[in-house]
Amino acid sequence: MAGSEPWTIRQALIPTADRGFCKGDIRIRGDKIEEIRLDAPTREGDSPRSIVADGMVALPGLVNAHVHSHGVLSKAVVEGFPLEVWSHYAKAGRELMSEEDVRYACLLASVELMRAGVSTVLDHPYYDRRRLDACAKAWGETGLRVVVAPSIADKGMLESIGVSSGDDSAPGPMEEDPAGLCESFARDWSGAFDGRLRVMYGPSAPHRCSDGLLRRVADGSSRSGLGVHLHLLETRTQARICRQSYERGVVRHLDSLGLLNPRTSLVHCVWLDPEEIEVIARSGASVVHVPASNLLLGSGIAPVKSMVRAGVNVCLGTDGPNCGGSLDLRDSMRLALLLHRVTEGDYEDWPSARSVFQLGTRNGAYALGLDAPAPLGVLREGAKADIALFDLRNKPEFVPNNDLLLQFILAGSVECETLVVDGEVIYTREGGPARFEEAEIMETAGRLGTDLIRRSRALYDGAERVRRLLHAVAAKDT
Ligand SMILES: [Zn+2]
Repeated sequence: MAGSEPWTIRQALIPTADRGFCKGDIRIRGDKIEEIRLDAPTREGDSPRSIVADGMVALPGLVNAHVHSHGVLSKAVVEGFPLEVWSHYAKAGRELMSEEDVRYACLLASVELMRAGVSTVLDHPYYDRRRLDACAKAWGETGLRVVVAPSIADKGMLESIGVSSGDDSAPGPMEEDPAGLCESFARDWSGAFDGRLRVMYGPSAPHRCSDGLLRRVADGSSRSGLGVHLHLLETRTQARICRQSYERGVVRHLDSLGLLNPRTSLVHCVWLDPEEIEVIARSGASVVHVPASNLLLGSGIAPVKSMVRAGVNVCLGTDGPNCGGSLDLRDSMRLALLLHRVTEGDYEDWPSARSVFQLGTRNGAYALGLDAPAPLGVLREGAKADIALFDLRNKPEFVPNNDLLLQFILAGSVECETLVVDGEVIYTREGGPARFEEAEIMETAGRLGTDLIRRSRALYDGAERVRRLLHAVAAKDT
């Protein structure tokens, strides 16, 4: 349902600021929530079109603020490597992706996102312009709200960690003007699909980019207002390299280049020191916490509580499914709720279900610059009508219903019943995605993925050679 005629979600459980969940109706007009009426049913005839959501909970659509669509077809190809080794296998799995592979990777990802109730996603892909166009078109097909931050870099992957080898290559296609790639892509696609597609700069990470490139991104961003999305201090190795490379530390270095401001989202931030947390907090930049990936690659545990205490806007992402395991943001919420209890001494300071839910919704919308002019990530009159309905009937996880939000985060494997973006129903559990045929996507993506891995065999062999080289370098260092 979409258009200017109002329609209503009737009798859903709706989160309120002070009364927990209350039964009520949500009236939607165009892309916004026009009215939320609690406890009093909408009068018949107010809006003839409606979804009866009795027994369902209505939540703001979740915001997955860090995904790599290029990793969708190469999930679970390798297991158990740290990032510095893993990234060479990841590159091997994306180098030969065709435009068709890119399209099916995005559509397949969208099915996984929709089933989890994710309505907004940031994609950070290493593609050349041709494949970026295929990526934008595919996301546009889905109806999801999407930010694409093309990954750019101008240093070799080995060079960036201080290893010299003839086998070196950049993490993505080398462009003559990488920042210009983001800008021309933004000119052509930002605001497309009724404003649901946006574009950001995506410098891969400070140590993978020259200062010239980072400065160019900072200048472009302040001129155009485009956001900047980059990985930062993900691993212990990166922390060491950054300490050696930047006299005042990498965070102050980014600040001095003009890259820390509210338009910037910094991904991972596992190895920040307390002073760096203060600098980020003062700058207004956001941090994307990606706990599943940090565990899978053995990167570490980000100091999320310290960041939140300092006032940093922290949000959540899953990473690509080849390093985070899934695109289901509820996994990240569960880990964010549980993980920091291990490192946080004072139990009174443990994260709450409510605070973690905010990381996965409102904070993500802010980080991606999508919270204005209309709020996003909250159910409120005047906010964007991005809504996920979950049917709680006959679900043992919700019997008895004692604390709906806590139960949702701890045991929330329930598939989304209906997903609404901009007032349009883009997915139902019964019918699948509204805009494309799910069965065909699953079947073709599976076939293309298997073929891609087979075609990439020589590249995986190259990654294996790099793995042995890095192992030898590490052995020499110790
Ligand atoms: Zn990433």
